Amino acid sequence: MLNVPSQSFPAPRSQQRVASGGRSKVPLKQGRSLMDWIRLTKSGKDLTGLKGRLIEVTEEELKKHNKKDDCWICIRGFVYNVSPYMEYHPGGEDELMRAAGSDGTELFDQNLTLLLRLECGGAVSSRCNLFLPGSSDSPASAIQVHRWVNYESMLKECLVGRMAIKPAVLKDYREEENKVLNGMLPKSQVTDTLAKEGPSYPSYDWFQTNSLVTIAIYTKQKDINLDSIIVDHQDDSFRAETIIKDFLYLIHIGLSHEVQEDFSVRVVESVGKIEIVLKKKENTSWDFLGHPLENHNSLIPRKDAEDTYMKNSYIRKNINQRRETFIFTFSPNVVGLYYRKCQLISKENVTHDTRLFCLMLPPSTHLQVPIGQHVYLKLPITGTEIVKPYTPVSGSLLSEFKEPVLPNNKYIYFLIKIYHTGLFTPELDRLQIGDFVSVSSPEGNFKISKFQELEDLFLLAAGTGFTPMVKILNYALTDIPSLRKVKLMFFNKTEDDIIWRSQLEKLAFKDKRLDVEFVLSAPVSEWNGKQGHISPALLSEFLKRNLDKSKVLVCICGPVPFTEQGVRLLQDLNFSKNEIHSFTA
Ligand code: FAD
Ligand code: NAP
Repeated sequence: MLNVPSQSFPAPRSQQRVASGGRSKVPLKQGRSLMDWIRLTKSGKDLTGLKGRLIEVTEEELKKHNKKDDCWICIRGFVYNVSPYMEYHPGGEDELMRAAGSDGTELFDQNLTLLLRLECGGAVSSRCNLFLPGSSDSPASAIQVHRWVNYESMLKECLVGRMAIKPAVLKDYREEENKVLNGMLPKSQVTDTLAKEGPSYPSYDWFQTNSLVTIAIYTKQKDINLDSIIVDHQDDSFRAETIIKDFLYLIHIGLSHEVQEDFSVRVVESVGKIEIVLKKKENTSWDFLGHPLENHNSLIPRKDAEDTYMKNSYIRKNINQRRETFIFTFSPNVVGLYYRKCQLISKENVTHDTRLFCLMLPPSTHLQVPIGQHVYLKLPITGTEIVKPYTPVSGSLLSEFKEPVLPNNKYIYFLIKIYHTGLFTPELDRLQIGDFVSVSSPEGNFKISKFQELEDLFLLAAGTGFTPMVKILNYALTDIPSLRKVKLMFFNKTEDDIIWRSQLEKLAFKDKRLDVEFVLSAPVSEWNGKQGHISPALLSEFLKRNLDKSKVLVCICGPVPFTEQGVRLLQDLNFSKNEIHSFTA
């Protein structure tokens, strides 16, 4: 799967920037673009030199392949021959050679980009050039990571095989699980240290009646709700991901008997218990729940929590004591985000280039994307799976336009701008009603607790950076009793680019707590409103607290440079870190 970074989107020299700033593209070396690489990988050429064989590679063998024309790199236990890819790597050959003949996993994790910077598309942006040796920028600023960047799909034709030594963390669980799946709870071996420092150790159990099987998950957390649990079951495979603070607790079972497609999920918030009630296909008694599937009964750091996780050495210290009952997975990439196929139900024009897509979840999925979080959409493009992040919105800002809520919140809406020269969105736009697109589990670090006792909410959005603000607006205006004022400043190029302008105006008319200000950078016709870019003058006038000591939150989202500049300006205006939430990937 190919994950496409968007963090710096639009690239500093992208066509969008060109349109406004008059800057030009820097072309990649002829015939060495992303699409050229994809074409080469599809050409049937033997890129490993092994004629399709996969081998077990010892450390000694790996070390031997350390030259440009014979360069093997190990990433998370898999060995790739990256020599054919050297010329296509926007970061340059030297970057790749740093890991030649060795384990490059840590380099990847330290953000040393060995990966394709797909945002460069068919051209290298100035940002991409930052990765090249000799750049005047410091390595720290140059190395921007995209944690979701995935190389498996990109380099799959270069796969030589696996390292002979298997990672120690992913073993030894089946025997214990066989017991667990017969209905016994895992015997907790949590040490005192871990219990104090780490997340409370979740567990699960199951019980049955004649017609139902209930899987109960004990999170031991009180802030659990229906957003915290994602359930998918297909055929006999049952998967439940529970979000517990910065971790995912995964139950993954091959059920012993067939169940019906639909099921229900209940949360007992006061004790942090989740119950998933499955309907048996046949009213027989089950002797056991099933058999464990990959990473069953494991606690996995969420992608966005990776940094925090890596710092938490207590997990490392206690891993051995825990292994018998539980698996901790060190890298989120080992598990990756789970995708399910969703059907396109409707597509509606919102502006000249932005559409409202409505996708329907499969009947056998329970998924509610929390406010402020995003998912990844995945589509095959010229035979390679491409993914990009998108932030679900509500179907409308106004309750009278909202479709009746269907059982289990089966619909997910997205406001997506189509870039005709983009990689992903034109393909998305070509989908027909009834077609399928894969949707990942949610990701993101926005916490709803930020709204507690909130009095003043300021939203700064540019272009599609408006998307996280949609659910925030809906939630804040309906569920925060302490809220006195919400102010949205919405930056766009022209009037035609403003998403849901009339809905915003109607909402502000209906709810006097809401003020909306549109700012245009390139108005084409007469415009009486504010004009320009985000600036100290605009912000200092706009961000007036209601009361001197009111509890304030400022949310900001848009192109990365816009967001970064906005955060600097907010800090200059004495907003504290806790009062600012910036949406980045
Ligand atoms: P790209 O291929 O990335 O290209 C976009 C444009 O830039 C094209 O015009 C292309 O020609 C040009 N370009 C790209 N690279 C270069 C280059 N090197 N030089 C010159 N020009 C270049 N978007 C939404 O619309 N809705 C959302 O809800 C949304 N949510 C997001 C949430 C997160 C957390 C993040 C990080 C991004 C989100 N985005 C959202 C943006 C989205 O992920 C994609 O970046 C966007 O859809 C563009 O994808 P694309 O592949 O079509 O375009
Ligand atoms: P756009 O139309 O290109 O720009 C919207 C407005 O922002 C325009 O007025 C534009 O001015 C201004 N702007 C752009 N770059 C700026 C900068 N560096 N400084 C000040 N103002 C700037 O925006 P878009 O195409 O919709 O892109 C939206 C962006 O939001 C994408 O990059 C997307 O990845 C990001 N996004 C992020 C998330 C998230 O959660 N992280 C969610 C959704 C979207 P000009 O006329 O000068 O260009």
